[in-house]
Amino acid sequence: MLQQTQVATVIPYFNRWLEEFPNPRSLAQADEDEVHKAWEGLGYYRRARFLQAAAGSVAADGWPGDLEGLAQLPGLGPYTAAAMGAIAFQWPTPALDGNAFRVLARLHLIEGDPKARAVELRTWLAPALEHLGPSRLTQAIMELGATICTPAPTCRACPLSDRCQAHLAGRARDLPPVAKRTKPKACALWLVALEAEGQFLLRAPAARGLLAGLWRWPALASGDHPPQPRTLDSQPIFAWPGWTQVYTHRREAVSPLHIQLKGRFASAEGLAWISRKDLAGLPLGKRDQRLRDLLDQPGMVPLEAPDARALIKACAAPSA
Ligand code: SF4
Repeated sequence: MLQQTQVATVIPYFNRWLEEFPNPRSLAQADEDEVHKAWEGLGYYRRARFLQAAAGSVAADGWPGDLEGLAQLPGLGPYTAAAMGAIAFQWPTPALDGNAFRVLARLHLIEGDPKARAVELRTWLAPALEHLGPSRLTQAIMELGATICTPAPTCRACPLSDRCQAHLAGRARDLPPVAKRTKPKACALWLVALEAEGQFLLRAPAARGLLAGLWRWPALASGDHPPQPRTLDSQPIFAWPGWTQVYTHRREAVSPLHIQLKGRFASAEGLAWISRKDLAGLPLGKRDQRLRDLLDQPGMVPLEAPDARALIKACAAPSA
């Protein structure tokens, strides 16, 4: 849960998750929709699917007995496997993530990307883990990197300040060098809740990819122009103020719309009409969840889209 997500966000999810799935077997046997629902709002849903697959493996074969075995569980990369080995099993397996690399790069005054020195750093860290306790030292480094040895470090509060070479050399803030980030791609879209006879049109979950397992509202590129007034057989179209949804590689300017139709039409492949009651229980991503929440809120502004007929037609298209 902590991959790409802050501790404060994770805590309530973690507690609810353990109440619902207290052991690997209960998670392995849970319905996929139930798992996605419990994860809803945490983002990066692939993690939930991996966690369930890993639970299946553990429920069937027991916990792996070494780092290689842990690293083969679905969703566990080398870092997570090493962190789990050290924290849960007391193995001297050095866990190096961005925070740990930053702490060690400063401690040893490593110029350039410390990841290039990963093998060396692991070799240095392993005996220290043995000596000081794998779980304790791993968590200490994590905590130091998260709270004190941050990109703008608070060296005066640091227990390592008398031996940290970067601090002693007055270079703490320069290390490690900041990697250049690629700018997220920007786009604008309508997120459309089409309602007819108390049912809503939604896209069924894809089997794979980033949003696998999640239901979605039809979304259409809106270009650079906000919706303009037009009529659609006097059917009201409602809009709420939009928001910007930020993903790692993408920034979406989302304009949420609610269109109420007089009658339903046959849904195209990949789309389904869902009752309002069932909608409440469907697993949705963060963006789509926000539109579902808006449907229950008053204060919508009546609005008509530039070409509402085309909008509806596109919503019903299988690949929009
Ligand atoms: S002294 Fe400063 S730079 Fe060095 S480990 Fe501590 S917080 Fe980081």
